[in-house]
Amino acid sequence: MTQQYSIPTLLPPRLAHELSIVRQAGQCSRSDLHRQMDCRKNTIGQDVATLIQMGLLREGALHVKPRGRPSVHLEIDPQQRHVLGLSITPGQVNCERYNLLGQAMGTAKNVSASDPSTLIPTARKLLKKMITPQTLFTGLAIPGTLDLSDRKILFSSAWPDGKQVSLKPLDKVTDGLLAIDNLTNALATRWLLEHATWPKNDHLIIFISDGMLGATLLVDGHPLKGCVVSSNELGHTRLPVRTPLCYCGQEGCLERIFSTPYYKQLGGKGKLTTALTKHEHCEALGQMTEHLAMGLSNAVNFCRPTHVTLMTDLPAIEPYMDHLIQQIRNRLLREFANRVQMHLWTEPQPQPAANGAALALAHLYFPNVSDS
Ligand SMILES: [Zn+2]
Repeated sequence: MTQQYSIPTLLPPRLAHELSIVRQAGQCSRSDLHRQMDCRKNTIGQDVATLIQMGLLREGALHVKPRGRPSVHLEIDPQQRHVLGLSITPGQVNCERYNLLGQAMGTAKNVSASDPSTLIPTARKLLKKMITPQTLFTGLAIPGTLDLSDRKILFSSAWPDGKQVSLKPLDKVTDGLLAIDNLTNALATRWLLEHATWPKNDHLIIFISDGMLGATLLVDGHPLKGCVVSSNELGHTRLPVRTPLCYCGQEGCLERIFSTPYYKQLGGKGKLTTALTKHEHCEALGQMTEHLAMGLSNAVNFCRPTHVTLMTDLPAIEPYMDHLIQQIRNRLLREFANRVQMHLWTEPQPQPAANGAALALAHLYFPNVSDS
C-alpha cells in the first residue's frame, strides 16, 4: 500500500496564522495581533520574536498615536528570505526567486528544452543554481495528473509520449522542501493568496488558455485532492466532436476544443488568441464557444459551488470571457443560476514560475490549505 507523501511543515499553525494576519494587514502591531489571536500577550511576544529571528517578520516604523505610547508596527520581511517558484510546461522550465510578499526578485531563469527527457535534469540544474541558505521552500507547478505519494507524473502535456516521470531527483536537490501540485491547483492557490485570508467558500476555479483547460474545486477553502492529483481534470471531459488527438489518447477533450488547431479545423483564420480579442466572432469561434460553454456549464451544474471564477492568462480577451460567462449562465439549472456568483480573473503576472512560488508561499501562510 502506498503512503500519502507529506512534506515538512514550515511553521506550526499558530505562527502561520500570525504571519498570515500580518501579510493581509500590511502592517500591524503586537496588540493588533493579540486582539485577533486567541492567546496570551506573552505568547504573541514570543511568537513575534521567533518570526523575526527566522527572517520572516521585521519591525517597521514607529507609529505615534494621539494618546498612549507609540507602537512598533510589524511587517513581512521582504528581503531576508525567499521561496523558489519552479514551473515545467511543454518545452520550458522556468525558475525564479520570490520574496515573502510574492514579488519576483528579478532572477528569472527560463530554459527551453524541446526534448521532454531533458526537462527534469534541466529543472534539477536550475534548482541547484538558485537554492541558497536563504531559500525557505520551493514550489513546483506541472500540468497533468500527478501521483504525489510516489512522487511521479502519470501523464502530462509536457511529456506527450505518455511515459511516467519520476520527480524524486527534484526532492533530492531541495532536501524534500518541495511542494508539488498540478498547474491548475497552483493557479487556484495564487488566487487564494491574492483574494482571501482564511478562505471558506465552495468555489470552482476554471483556468483556460490556448490548448490548456483545468479546474480546481475549493471546498470550504481547501483544494480538493486525492492521492492522485489531477485537479479535477476538466480539460479531459469529452464531447462527441472530432478534434485533433489529445495527449490523453482521446478526441473531443475540452482542452483540445479550446485550441488553435481545432479553431483552424473549424475553418478559423489565424491564431485563436487573436480571434478572441476581436469584437465580432467568426463562425468557427462561435461553434467552439458553444462546445466550451456546454462542457463548463455541465461542470458548474454538477458541482453547484457558491462561486465560479474563470481565469485566463490570455491578454485583452475580457469581452470574450464576459460573453463566455453569459453563455455558461444561460445553460445553468434555473434555480441555481440565480444564486451562483461568477467572476473573471485575468492572470496579472503571466511568469509561469509564479505558479510554483504560490505553492511555496501557501505552504508558509496557509499550511492547512496546502496540506489538505
Ligand atoms: Zn484529453
